[in-house]
Amino acid sequence: MVAHDAWQFVCRLFASGTPLLRATLSPREAALLPHLGRAIQAAVIDQSFVLCPHCLLHRVPVFGDGHGGRLCRCPDCGPVPLVPQDTAAIRLDEDWLRRKLRLALSIESRDGIDTLGDGVWRLGDSRRSPVLLARDLIRLWREPALLDRVRVAGGPIRVITPKPRETRGAPFGPGVEWLALEDGFAFYGGGISFISTPGEPPAPQAGDPTTPVKGPFSADFRWVTLPEGPHGPIRLTEAQAAVFEALWSFKGEPRTAEQIMRRAGLDSDKPIDVFKVKARDKGKPEAEGPLFAYRALVQVVQGRPGLYSISCAAASSHAPA
Ligand SMILES: [Zn+2]
Repeated sequence: MVAHDAWQFVCRLFASGTPLLRATLSPREAALLPHLGRAIQAAVIDQSFVLCPHCLLHRVPVFGDGHGGRLCRCPDCGPVPLVPQDTAAIRLDEDWLRRKLRLALSIESRDGIDTLGDGVWRLGDSRRSPVLLARDLIRLWREPALLDRVRVAGGPIRVITPKPRETRGAPFGPGVEWLALEDGFAFYGGGISFISTPGEPPAPQAGDPTTPVKGPFSADFRWVTLPEGPHGPIRLTEAQAAVFEALWSFKGEPRTAEQIMRRAGLDSDKPIDVFKVKARDKGKPEAEGPLFAYRALVQVVQGRPGLYSISCAAASSHAPA
């Protein structure tokens, strides 16, 4: 199980994207380090602050002790002498990760890795399909143009991301095959091996009506599941579901409030109207959840007030509505 734990740790480091102080590693994580080999490198971090090695609670300034050594001053623990280990940090060698993923997917080495944006890379082509690696899923929902930039006619895009807390099923529409970093690959002999076939998303749980099948939405749009925010699937009212279904049907294209509400078959003026939380429902998850989902998923088109779109639907723009 060491290899399994080591791989999960690599995935967590990639998802966070930041160096980790050695002092904050659990004994279990520290024990994994020797197994990670070249995946891990020493990180250079700001040495003028340190996590107090005594309580591990406060980030405190570092001073010279006047004798060539260093100490930190913690509000709880007072002056604490530092050893080099206290400021040592590690990071994932992300270049290593991308190179080994390419090898695992038999991506030809002649085309290089492209950085498409902050936290999104095009690893190359595997079986003539572009393969994207992203630090998180929601970045691609919010910026579907990144998918359009690599899309080739008639072929699917493969997207690899760390597994979000809540998404099951297929987080993108047809035309985008999603693979969880944690489940699709394994740490093996100092490299990475590919253990599942892209194009086989985890099977939706039969009989569970909340399972996301249209992007983050359930088949009937009565449930939405987000990787961030409220825990678990969010239940929508009939009117809220109708608004999301209408927005989805426009495949990410901006539409006016009137067009959206007409397609949803509702009398209200604006999509937000059916998501507003009444004063007496403030703080109630069943009322706040749908509003959170609306804010996370629906964009008001910049510079063109009154136009709305839902970008996660654009990922499925080649699918039937
Ligand atoms: Zn302290």
